[in-house]
Amino acid sequence: MSGFFDTKIEFLRGVGPQKGALINKELNIFTFGEMIQHYPFRYEDRSRFFKVKELREDLEHVQVIAKIRHIETIGMGRKKRLVAHVTDETGEMELTWFKGIQWVVKKLVIGTPYVIFGKPNRFGRKFSIAHPEMEPLTTAKEEKSFFQPIYPTTDKLRARFLDAKGISKIMEGLLQLAYPNIQETLPEDILLRFNLITKKEALKQIHFPDQLEILQKARFRLKFEEFFFVQLRLLMMKLTRTEKSLGQVLNQTELLTRFYRDHIPFELTEAQKRVVREAYGDMKSGKQMNRLLQGDVGSGKTMVAFICMLIAISSGTQTCLMAPTEILANQHFEGLKTYADKMSLPIALLTGSTKKSTRKIIHQMLLSGDLKILIGTHALLEDVVQFKNLGMAIMDEQHRFGVAQRAKLWAKNTTYLPHILVMTATPIPRTLAMTLYGDLDISVIDELPAGRKPIQTVHRYDKDRLKVFGFIRKQIGLGRQVYIVYPLIEESEKMDLKNLMDGYESICRAFSEFPISIVHGNMKAADKDFEMQRFVKGETKIMVATTVIEVGVNVPNASVMIVENAERFGLSQLHQLRGRVGRGADQSYCILMTKYELSKDSRVRIETMVRTNDGFEIADVDLKLRGPGDLMGTQQSGIADLLIADLSKDAPILTVARDAVQNLLKEDPDLIQPQNSMILRQIRTQKKHAINWSRIS
Ligand code: ADP
Ligand code: MG
Repeated sequence: MSGFFDTKIEFLRGVGPQKGALINKELNIFTFGEMIQHYPFRYEDRSRFFKVKELREDLEHVQVIAKIRHIETIGMGRKKRLVAHVTDETGEMELTWFKGIQWVVKKLVIGTPYVIFGKPNRFGRKFSIAHPEMEPLTTAKEEKSFFQPIYPTTDKLRARFLDAKGISKIMEGLLQLAYPNIQETLPEDILLRFNLITKKEALKQIHFPDQLEILQKARFRLKFEEFFFVQLRLLMMKLTRTEKSLGQVLNQTELLTRFYRDHIPFELTEAQKRVVREAYGDMKSGKQMNRLLQGDVGSGKTMVAFICMLIAISSGTQTCLMAPTEILANQHFEGLKTYADKMSLPIALLTGSTKKSTRKIIHQMLLSGDLKILIGTHALLEDVVQFKNLGMAIMDEQHRFGVAQRAKLWAKNTTYLPHILVMTATPIPRTLAMTLYGDLDISVIDELPAGRKPIQTVHRYDKDRLKVFGFIRKQIGLGRQVYIVYPLIEESEKMDLKNLMDGYESICRAFSEFPISIVHGNMKAADKDFEMQRFVKGETKIMVATTVIEVGVNVPNASVMIVENAERFGLSQLHQLRGRVGRGADQSYCILMTKYELSKDSRVRIETMVRTNDGFEIADVDLKLRGPGDLMGTQQSGIADLLIADLSKDAPILTVARDAVQNLLKEDPDLIQPQNSMILRQIRTQKKHAINWSRIS
C-alpha cells in the first residue's frame, strides 16, 4: 500500500544508482515519497508571450516569439561572442552567447520563428538576452502555455545534468507513475469545509501548475496539510497528558498565605496574579500541569515560580528549578534563599561545581524528603538526583532546553508526573509558540511591575566612543553601574577573545579611577562567580563581559548597557542583553555601538531595537529576518517537518489548521470513526518515516 513511495530513488527512470547516490547525498532524498515532496521554490511564467516592444528591464524573465534575421560573431579570443539579430512584428532585439558558440551556431536557423526565453537587458536602445533558452516554434508549443517549475538543486547535481530542468524531467516521470498511488490524507468534510483540493490534484499542480490560481490552491492545500498533522501530533500529545497523566493534587496554600502576609516585598502585578491563578488551577486539578510561562525580561517570572513552589511544598511535595547557566542558577539560589530562609524552608544549590561532599548531603536530603527546594543547572537531570516526591519542576529560560530535557524532568517522579512550568523571556511569535510548544498550555505576563521607566536605546558609531565614555563616567558618578558586552562567537573565538581583552584594557585605562570586573566563557566557574558577585555587590562599577550575562542576571543598580559590535548580535540576544538593565527605579540606557558600514539586516535589527522595547514586536521582526528554523537553533518538534509551510508567512493557515484539528479531536478524540481512517494511516506513515530518518542520519 505505502510500498510505492518507499521505493528507492535509484529505481526511477532516468536516475539509476550513480545519480541516485548523488541525490541521496546532495538533497537528502532517498525515496519516491521524499522526491515527490521536493517542491519547486519558484516558477517561471511561460503562460505569457511578450512582444519586443513590450520588453522592460525590470522583467525577470520573458518569453518572446521572434525570427532570426542575421547571425554574426564579434570580437576575438576570450572576448568573442555570438550575436543573433531577431525580430518580431514590433521590433528588433539581440541574442548573445559567450560560451559554446560553435555548438549554438550550428543549431540556429535563419528565418524560422523561435520561442525565446531569458532575462532581458537593455543596451542603448536595444534589448538583449544572453544565453537564452530557445526552441523552434511549433503550434503545439504555442498552445502549451504553462509555469516552468524551478527546483532547488546543487552544483554537483547540475554537473550531472540534474539542474532545475533535469529534475523537472525526472519529476514528470515520477508524477506519472505516482499519480494512481497518491492517497488522500484528509477526510472529505475537511476538504469541503476549507475548500481544499485533493492531495492528488495538489501534488500534480504544485509541480506542474496549469494556472496561477490552481497553483495557489495547491500551495494552500499542502501547507494546510503540513500544519494539520504537526498540530494533530501536538494536540494529541496534550490530550493524552491531560486525560491520562494524573498529577498530584497540590491545593494547599498555607505557606503561600504566610508569605503574602509576612514576607512578600511588593504587590504582585495583575498579570502575575492571573498567571498564578492559571497555574494553581492546573496544580489542584488532579491532572498534570504542562505550562509555558512567557514574560518579557523583568516581568517578574521568578516570583511566580516561587509562589508555585510554595503551593507544592504546602501540599507535601518537593520542588526544583533548573536554569541554563551556573551564573543564573546561582542568582536564583541567592534570590530565593532570602525568602526560603525567612520561611524556614530548606533550599540547596546543585551545579557542576558543587563539591562531592555537598552533593552527597543533597542527594540524601532529597531522598528523605527534607530538602524542599533544589535550584540548579543540567546537573539536576542526572540519574543520581532522586527525589522522595517531586511535585513541581520549573525550567527557566526554556529556549536553552530541548523537548528531551522536559521529558527527563517528567521522569523524575514515577507514580505521578511532576507538574511542569517552563519559563521563557524570549517572546515567541504566536505561530512559533503554537508549533514549538503546541503541546503546552501558555500563560503570558504582559505587564511590567509599576514604576519601571522604559529603557532608552540609542545607536552610536565607533567614532563616538569618547562621548560614550563621557556618558559612562557621568552615570557612574550618579552611583550607577555599567555593563559593556562584547560578542564571543565560537568560530572566531580567538579573535573575539582578543577584542574583548583589548577592550577591557582600554576601559581600564580610560576608567582607572573605578574598579572593573570582567567575565567571559573561558574563565573558571569559580572566578566568573567571584567577579559576578563583586559586581552584584556594587564593589565594581563596570562589568566587561561576553554574552554569558545574557540571560536572567539581575543587578537592579546597573542602568547602562553598552553592546560593542552590536551588528553581530541577533535581535533576541540584543533584547535579552538590554533586559539586564531597567530593573531598578532609575532611568536606564542601552547603547548599541557599531561600525559605520552595516548590512541591511543589521540595520533593521539596530533600528528595531531603537524603536521598540516590546519583546513580541521584536520577536516578529526576528522571525521575518531569520526564518523559524534558525530562530530556535534546534530541530525541535514540528518545525523540521515543514517542507512548504512557512511559520513567518503562513500564520493564518496555521490558525485554521489548528482549529480544524481541535474540532476534529472534539468529535473523534481517538480517530476511530471510519471517515477519519485516512488520518490515522497518515500518522502511521509519518511515524514510520521518522524512525527511518533516525536510522539514516
Ligand atoms: P524575569 O521575568 O526577567 O525573570 P525577575 O523575576 O528577575 O524577572 O524580576 C525582575 C525584577 O523585578 C526583580 O528584581 C524582582 O524582584 C522584581 N519584581 C518582580 N515582580 C515585581 C512586582 N510585582 N513589583 C515590583 N517588583 C517586582
Ligand atoms: Mg528570569
